Amino acid sequence: MTETALALTREIYDEIIYQGYNGQDKEICGVLAGTYGPTQSVVSDIQQIENVAETPQTQYAMNPEAQLEATQSLEANGHEVIGFYHTHPTGPPRPSETDAARATWPGYSYAICAFDGYPFIGSWRWTEEGFQHESLRMIQDTNNWDLIVLLHTVRTISLDSPHQQRVFWTRPYVSCEISRQ
Ligand SMILES: [Zn+2]
Repeated sequence: MTETALALTREIYDEIIYQGYNGQDKEICGVLAGTYGPTQSVVSDIQQIENVAETPQTQYAMNPEAQLEATQSLEANGHEVIGFYHTHPTGPPRPSETDAARATWPGYSYAICAFDGYPFIGSWRWTEEGFQHESLRMIQDTNNWDLIVLLHTVRTISLDSPHQQRVFWTRPYVSCEISRQ
């Protein structure tokens, strides 16, 4: 399996967290736009979409008309949709079974912000084998130097059957890496 990453700026990372706080006990959701890459996709814009799920406390369903409108306007600005984001007001910090049942876009990134502890955003690519965790790479331009913060999670996966996957996650640890572009 190829290791993949989702790169985004600090501003976008914080914006997802702010939107999540504003949603209070309900999940908020939206579209990630930018540049798709088979190993790294870069987010350059996000667009929140109304959550029209019947039980928004534990599920999300994007208003289809608003989603179409947002997609068209993002594409008109030269972006492409590279994935989606939503929140888990009470956790867990990983995709739920509902998320896996509803994921339909192979190669797309699914970012999830969990609020059951310190707000944590993780990202997963949807593949034929299910959700594959990917690195979150934070890009910040500081006088021609890019500060890249990598958030890692440690995982243990046990496969009981091809259709049943149990994944255990720990909270992330943070490492920094500075590179010149
Ligand atoms: Zn979810």
